[in-house]
Amino acid sequence: MASKDKKPQFWINPNTRLCCPHFSIVWNKCDKEELLDLCFIPAIRKKTYHTRSICLHIHNKSDWSGLHIFYSQDIDFENLRLQKWLRETIRDAVTERAKIVLPKRLHELEKEKQLYAKSVTVKKLRKGCLGQCSIYNQIWLSPLLVIFPQEMMDDVILHEMAHLKHHHHRKPFWDFLSTLIGMDARQQKVIFEAVLSKYWELYVYLMK
Ligand SMILES: [Zn+2]
Repeated sequence: MASKDKKPQFWINPNTRLCCPHFSIVWNKCDKEELLDLCFIPAIRKKTYHTRSICLHIHNKSDWSGLHIFYSQDIDFENLRLQKWLRETIRDAVTERAKIVLPKRLHELEKEKQLYAKSVTVKKLRKGCLGQCSIYNQIWLSPLLVIFPQEMMDDVILHEMAHLKHHHHRKPFWDFLSTLIGMDARQQKVIFEAVLSKYWELYVYLMK
């Protein structure tokens, strides 16, 4: 996967559709005058990107559940500086949203399964890692889980919760996880990896 090419393999532009139950991005094309007018609207959590002739606004919903991006027609999405800004802005919004959604979901599942973690933290994890459970029963979750399908988000959380009982990946762990999810956990792993691959590009791009 490593590439010496400086250009990203993945570009964020109005074709980057992100419409998940917990987070969405809406793109709005407007003319320059409309864009300038938007500068003067006291919107909540507005971020603006300016260059000489183009500008782009991002409005965050107050609960971080989505972004509205307003852009002018002539904006060059292949500008590396703009890409960096977009990537960081989207990643920050996803992270804020994840800090609301993921601990709440974990606590629901804790109650349901009667299995409690010592603490839960949402933070960027090492590459390719979506969740982690320490030997002290602290659970860490990757912010990117919030843009995955609900079922997969639950799968990762339940996987980490199974580690509260078994801090390894040997047979007792998989047997226990199977009872938590109500199916053969080894089989679930295959489905999980297939679904994950669909999001992998965006995941890697946002988290690099
Ligand atoms: Zn594991």
